[in-house]
Amino acid sequence: MTIDATDTAAGEAPEDGVSTAGGPGLPQERRLVTEIPGPRSRELLERKAAAVARGVGHTAPIAAVAAGGGVVVDADGNSLIDLGSGIAVTGVGNAHPAVVAAVSAQAAQFTHTCFMVSPYEGYVAVAERLNALTPGDHEKRSALFNSGAEAVENAVKIARKHTGRQAVVAFDHAYHGRTSLTMALTAKSMPYKSGFGPFSPEIYRAPVSYPLRDGLDGAQAAARAIGVIEKQVGADNLAAVIIEPVLGEGGFIVPAEGFLPALAAWCAEQGVVFIADEVQTGFARTGAMFACEHEGVVPDLIVTAKGIAGGLPLSAVTGRAEVMDAAHVGGLGGTYGGNPLACAAALAAMDVYESERLSEAAQSIGAVITERMSALQAADARVGEVRGRGAMMAVELVDAATGEPDAALAGTVARAAIAAGVIVLTCGTYGNVLRFLPPLTIPEHLLVEGLDVVAVALREAP
Ligand SMILES: *Cc1c(COP(=O)(O)O)cnc(C)c1O
Repeated sequence: MTIDATDTAAGEAPEDGVSTAGGPGLPQERRLVTEIPGPRSRELLERKAAAVARGVGHTAPIAAVAAGGGVVVDADGNSLIDLGSGIAVTGVGNAHPAVVAAVSAQAAQFTHTCFMVSPYEGYVAVAERLNALTPGDHEKRSALFNSGAEAVENAVKIARKHTGRQAVVAFDHAYHGRTSLTMALTAKSMPYKSGFGPFSPEIYRAPVSYPLRDGLDGAQAAARAIGVIEKQVGADNLAAVIIEPVLGEGGFIVPAEGFLPALAAWCAEQGVVFIADEVQTGFARTGAMFACEHEGVVPDLIVTAKGIAGGLPLSAVTGRAEVMDAAHVGGLGGTYGGNPLACAAALAAMDVYESERLSEAAQSIGAVITERMSALQAADARVGEVRGRGAMMAVELVDAATGEPDAALAGTVARAAIAAGVIVLTCGTYGNVLRFLPPLTIPEHLLVEGLDVVAVALREAP
């Protein structure tokens, strides 16, 4: 298929074919000056194949050199519309000037002391901000780590220490990371777990609410899940229930209304720690600062990462002081957790989420995506469902005749969109979901153009 992007591109490639400075000052346009991948990108991908472990895959076959606003620019001078944000990380936009300035200033001051050796203000300030920003006005504490998976592991450690119990319940379609414990929590075997066992013990799986496929309302789905937990685990043995308020890698599944509150209420009755994994949904992504807020759910512990620091690696566990403080002195930490550069970036990014009203931006983005994709659904029976919240939206593709998941179609559409200059990610237990996670700073004209390219890619897909 062909989508001629060069016709619609407003600008020219920079003279040497390469943009070197990123940030929102980059021309906000889709611009294809070579095929994707172009020669310079191909050269890097050849080096990658020879030097980088095969297990580390990639979605877009490009060599990125700059990004900002709503675009990623490659080494050949192509400018691609970014509907992925590096998997929901650059919510404030790539290389946001406030983040760049904060990181540069901190780098000139000091880059590391190890917070457990010589504490510094940035870490404490991030903890204070998270304690204030997360749902609930109870007394809170935070601890900082490097990755989402590392924070999930620590949330589980803290819940076990607090309750003196060992079992943890995760859900069908869950994704919590790729480390040993988080692989066990993650539902999907290929590609995340296959061949990497044995897995951490005392992890149990319960059915989630998946309205398109189970037809249950929130109360029914919660009763089903709680029934399984009570029969197969028993509350007396259960330290924590962990759930993504919108299931991310599993397919942007929004549980039916009432499911999350019922689960949280059951946990509170039983003394089970309710952990919200908001690694993907957090920081304005769903149109609220945290996705739990949509149903007034107040988790005991909330895990954050991805969008927290404008692209620098940082993660956190935030929660009830009495739960968080259950761990003894020295029981939590890590060499790099709460690195000063990442903390400086997070403080700047959290300012930007508020000052640029990015929760509202996410709502507007969601409205545009919903409108465009619903029109597509009305015209094409292969669009099984359009769902999500805010700027975390997905289209589930199915076989028009049977309603069965169509992963091949999702892959075809995503590859065609990327070839036409639009970075689109897929997800879903069945691999049949196109997901849209644009930077919350994307200009509307780029968002619309990107969605139009996806629509053309779907129309032209066999
Ligand atoms: C990405 C993700 C993780 C893992 O985060 P990493 O930083 O990749 O370790 C955990 N939970 C959810 C919901 C995620 O989306």
